[in-house]
Amino acid sequence: MAESAVKIQDTSASFVEKRVATHSHIRGLGLRDDGTATVDCGFIGQTSAREAAGLIVDLVKSRKMAGRAVLLAGEPGTGKTAIALAISQELGAKVPFRPMVGSEVFSAEVKKTEVLEENFRRAIGLRIKEIKEVFEGEVVDVTPHEVEHSGPQGKSIASVAVTLRTAKGSKTLKLDPSIYESLLKAKVTTGDVIYVEANSGTVKRLGRSDNFKQEYDLEADEFVPVPKGEVHKKREVVQDVTLHDLDMANARPQGGQDVLSLVGQMMKPRKTEVTDKLRREINKIVNRYIEQGTAELVPGVLFIDEAHILDMECFTFLNRAIESSLAPIVVLATNRGMSLIRGTDDIVAPHGIPRELLDRLLIIRTTPYGVDDMRKIIMIRARAEGLLVGEETLQVLAEVAKGSSLRYAIQLLTPASISAAAHGRDRIMPEDVNETSTLFLDTKRSAKLLLD
Ligand code: ATP
Repeated sequence: MAESAVKIQDTSASFVEKRVATHSHIRGLGLRDDGTATVDCGFIGQTSAREAAGLIVDLVKSRKMAGRAVLLAGEPGTGKTAIALAISQELGAKVPFRPMVGSEVFSAEVKKTEVLEENFRRAIGLRIKEIKEVFEGEVVDVTPHEVEHSGPQGKSIASVAVTLRTAKGSKTLKLDPSIYESLLKAKVTTGDVIYVEANSGTVKRLGRSDNFKQEYDLEADEFVPVPKGEVHKKREVVQDVTLHDLDMANARPQGGQDVLSLVGQMMKPRKTEVTDKLRREINKIVNRYIEQGTAELVPGVLFIDEAHILDMECFTFLNRAIESSLAPIVVLATNRGMSLIRGTDDIVAPHGIPRELLDRLLIIRTTPYGVDDMRKIIMIRARAEGLLVGEETLQVLAEVAKGSSLRYAIQLLTPASISAAAHGRDRIMPEDVNETSTLFLDTKRSAKLLLD
């Protein structure tokens, strides 16, 4: 569909992607089999925090984290996000990682607990196993049942089946509504020989035998060729989704959800109301899928930075939510010591977190970096961004990081590379760093200027 050039993006998704992209060099905690931290990995320093995080991973894997959560306590820019991300990576490939900031819950339109709930569901993965089959057969019957469905175009096809005569007898398969359009476009009629590809009984793709591959732009490995005379081939396909994906895919403007076609709906997310009722329905189906062995739960990591900003209502929600059997690993982060618990008048507690929750937290401390560690981290980031930086420049950047922050020094890399290019160089030199750091203030200097 080339004409749909304008896409409305889920801004929260791209924001999260960017936040994760700055940690692209992080590939796990970098621990040996005995749990001790290695030095030659993407992770620099922070050894005891990494080793403690490794124990958390072990607890999660041996299912001993239920009802508990993690708190990373340490100054800003001490790698708390990086550690939380690494925990999710250690838990396995395709384990969801959802970072958020405590202040996100205070939005004008959405309830605080609703924001938390959505983030929880974005951090819970589901691996759905489906049977993908390819049939070849002669079309005997194509039956559309037009059903009133209030979409943007008013009526649309809701249920269509195709009956094929195959070498092993006739077979009726449900068509995904979107496939019906392809069927009309391809002018498939009775008597035609077609290929259909079905996932768990519902046709997902179809086409005439000769041009099936080209027409549906099938990747070579997606397509299971059907040898002449043989009716079908089976293959298991695995789909990784989050509970939030399922919520969105099954939400409809006016109730009447078709939760049964969980997977069938997957590819067409609709931005509409997700209600508690819908979530409960989805949970029921998910639990059934899990019991049947069709799906497997993949709890991910929900990282809540600046957790001290949350208030009593949020903490109560968290306390309850981490008890649930459908819960991700919650990793809170803060740089506060004793502070007032938000939403109370006078309760002061460590990290501004109430006792009930504190008691369930495994607390890991992150410590500030020395210049040498910061130099190594900057070097890794420069490499990840494909920038050429010499030893001397790295040292200058490390000093900048020490004076302001690691994040600031890393953020100078890109403008400094532009400065280098302007001087006809592909290598960043100390003068590029100096030039850009006078152009862009760090927070300390900016605040001081305003004060003056
Ligand atoms: P925090 O969450 O504590 O504020 P962070 O994990 O967000 O810290 P930043 O200050 O954003 O860390 O770090 C800037 C960059 O340095 C990021 O790209 C981050 O991945 C990287 N980084 C931080 N700590 C380490 C580390 N110990 N080893 C390797 N890279 C690190």
